[in-house]
Amino acid sequence: MIEFLNLSSVNAKYRNEIEAAIARVLTRGRYILDAEGDGFEKEFADYLGVKHVIGVGNGLDALTLIIQALDLSKDDEIIVPANTFFASALAISSNGCRPVFVEPLEESYNIDPAKIEEKITSKTRCIMAVHLYGQIADMAAIHGIADRHQLMVIEDAAQAHGACCQGVMAGNLSTAAGFSFYPTKNLGCLGDGGAVATNDDEIANRLRALRHYGIGHAKIGRNSRLDEIQAAILREKLKYLNQDNQRRREIAAAYLANIQHPDVVLPQPGHPGAHVWHQFVIQTSQREDLSSHLLSAGIQTAIHYEIPACKQELYCSKSIEVLPITIRLSKQVLSLPIHTAMSDEEVRLVADAINHWKYAKPYIPKVL
Ligand SMILES: *Cc1c(COP(=O)(O)O)cnc(C)c1O
Repeated sequence: MIEFLNLSSVNAKYRNEIEAAIARVLTRGRYILDAEGDGFEKEFADYLGVKHVIGVGNGLDALTLIIQALDLSKDDEIIVPANTFFASALAISSNGCRPVFVEPLEESYNIDPAKIEEKITSKTRCIMAVHLYGQIADMAAIHGIADRHQLMVIEDAAQAHGACCQGVMAGNLSTAAGFSFYPTKNLGCLGDGGAVATNDDEIANRLRALRHYGIGHAKIGRNSRLDEIQAAILREKLKYLNQDNQRRREIAAAYLANIQHPDVVLPQPGHPGAHVWHQFVIQTSQREDLSSHLLSAGIQTAIHYEIPACKQELYCSKSIEVLPITIRLSKQVLSLPIHTAMSDEEVRLVADAINHWKYAKPYIPKVL
């Protein structure tokens, strides 16, 4: 069986380092906000080229606390891609602000800059760029629009650790960026974890207060800290992030070169450095048929996302506009396995199985 993702094999390569990291924390006996957290914050900041990294409990908290630190008013609007994970929009709503959904480009799956301006109102304050599936969004276009309308820009970089656009890393392309270290991410820990990256001293100070009950800050904070064990593990895994991303790029390149099928649309890679292939997402009009064909060949697939953010129940009751591209994608996207423990042989088997798929065209009776 070629599993969609097997975290035990993914982490097996780093077992010695991970065990040593945990032992370090156990011996030191300080489990929250100590040397490992400080060390990881500094090392990840150096990696990204940003001034500050603040470790928090998870990716949703990273985004939620960034928005809290921006000091927006209730009912202010934040532009967000419709085709994203629920958490991007939830971070906006949980601050009492309103997510305004914008359609993606069908080629890159990221927000379509040409459709942003029509959604800007007198209440719009900010654009949240999401680097979906590991590919950096069109930040030049997004910043151009933001400058014209005096909007802030923030990033959801939860899927893009290590992606780099013209020498600048994802997470260093806006006022503040949220990262997740959920175990499945390109840089994942062994539990929940997250971080905020920013060059803004004031936002960094607010974040340090907000993650620690809000002590020393006039706002209501929370308990959302990256614990020492997760930080120690992340310090070890950060050393291998570029290597891991390189392996994902090799697998993506093999899929792109070898998959050829009339009913399969392959993702467009864009600039090579700007994509770290968190997911490899194809499109097909016969998704059920293809996924069951692959499963019978022993290959697991997944769907990101069957219910896009804009279609979650929380937003459905409010009158959201029709978003036909997002809805179509949610019915046609299929994610292929692309994890760092895959062998070249397994990658070849996946491509072959797709190329040999004989899909049954649905019978459409002719209406005279
Ligand atoms: C994973 C993810 C999040 C949320 O991170 P958690 O650590 O699971 O809270 C937010 N946005 C995107 C795009 C993600 O993929």
